[in-house]
Amino acid sequence: MNEFQEKQVNFKWVEPKKSYDVIIIGGGGHGLATAYYLATRHNITNVAVLERKYIGGGNSGRNTTVIRANYGIPEAVRFYQRSLELYQTLEQETGRWMMHKQKGILWMAHSEAAVRQEMARAEINTAFGAKTEYVTPKQIHEICPEVDLTGGGVWPVMGGSYHPEAATARHDRVNWALAEGAMKHGVHVHQGTAVTNLITSGSRVIGVETTAGPMHANVVMSAVGGHVTSLAAMAGLRLPIRTHPLQAFVTNHYEQKFHPIVASTSLLFYVSQTARGEMLVGAEIDRQPSYSYRSGHHFLQTCSHRAITLLPFMRQLRVLRQWTGVCDMSPDYSPIMGFTGVDGFVITTGWGTWGFKAIPAGGEQMAQLIATGQTPELIAPFSLSRFAHDRTKADRGSAGTH
Ligand SMILES: Cc1cc2nc3c(=O)[nH]c(=O)nc-3n(C[C@H](O)[C@H](O)[C@H](O)COP(=O)(O)OP(=O)(O)OC[C@H]3O[C@@H](n4cnc5c(N)ncnc54)[C@H](O)[C@@H]3O)c2cc1C
Repeated sequence: MNEFQEKQVNFKWVEPKKSYDVIIIGGGGHGLATAYYLATRHNITNVAVLERKYIGGGNSGRNTTVIRANYGIPEAVRFYQRSLELYQTLEQETGRWMMHKQKGILWMAHSEAAVRQEMARAEINTAFGAKTEYVTPKQIHEICPEVDLTGGGVWPVMGGSYHPEAATARHDRVNWALAEGAMKHGVHVHQGTAVTNLITSGSRVIGVETTAGPMHANVVMSAVGGHVTSLAAMAGLRLPIRTHPLQAFVTNHYEQKFHPIVASTSLLFYVSQTARGEMLVGAEIDRQPSYSYRSGHHFLQTCSHRAITLLPFMRQLRVLRQWTGVCDMSPDYSPIMGFTGVDGFVITTGWGTWGFKAIPAGGEQMAQLIATGQTPELIAPFSLSRFAHDRTKADRGSAGTH
């Protein structure tokens, strides 16, 4: 898509109304996708998305764009596979090019224990609908010749898993396409409109106070990645969420085509190549919880060292840009979706470092929950009540978190 075509994205901006059927707080991927699916699947169009900055200005516009379903527990594999499949047809459905590209992800193992972990990942993925196979060092070399199988003499590659359907997509375009698609069906998206409080009547949430005045709704949904604890506190709700910064960086162009996404749990980093040829590198969260968007030299130094260990060609590249987002982390590294126990108030949160890939399925399922008043089977394991009933969903299938 060139600059001319970019301008063709047809946003319909309108004045806010005093009341809606559904108000969604947060114009990131999850808020916009929920609005999109409410309108396109359930014909619920009297919906407003309220975004305090600009759409995609949160984590949905600052992530490393990895889409995959090779998670570590059955419930997650099923859910992320649904999302991966929705992504595969989203360009066709919305008529917008999102630069979706299937690349495959190679996950390296550097110890006997890690080899067993990748074998188990392949088994559990296959059993619950995602395509993942165990691969030997020789096969890894065939898929990605750039990998130094000696791991710099310190982190030898002893095996790994390969998930061929993993992909990337341009994050801004995903946000824009969903916003445009929702607006086309009559959804209102209000940028520069911050929610400052929730309006309650008895124990029910009936609307929001905003910088553009009060608005009422039958259902209010929070999709405020990075800030959900303060938003939920307005409803008297204390969530099991801690917010941590997550950093990433890109290098200048690598002149050769680097096809797959490469990840290592032991080295705690992952890398892919952007459409412009830059190498895009992500890692684990900053340990100290905070709302800081500051990027640091320490992260750059340690993360680039790990990347060079496996991919020595990156030694020749230069760091172009570095940035940070703030991630709402749940204690079991799984999302929290659904009813909250407060009437009229639902949430989608706990998207931590892994929520970009979940945007289509998260939106689809939350739209179904709002439209039917019932929790869909696919997301039932991820309800907030799991923490009260000792049914946590600990998932070690994510590289960026631990
Ligand atoms: C560096 C980095 C790399 C990542 N890499 C990946 C990856 O490769 N793959 C992956 O799957 N995930 C990745 N993620 C995680 C992913 O980006 C997030 O989980 C996902 O974008 C969350 O989407 P969201 O819609 O819930 O939140 P956001 O996109 O953060 O949107 C929330 C919106 O709410 C708005 N808001 C907040 N408070 C208010 C208020 N009071 N009133 C109105 N609006 C408000 C914010 O301005 C924001 O725009 C990464 C994240 C980071 C930071």
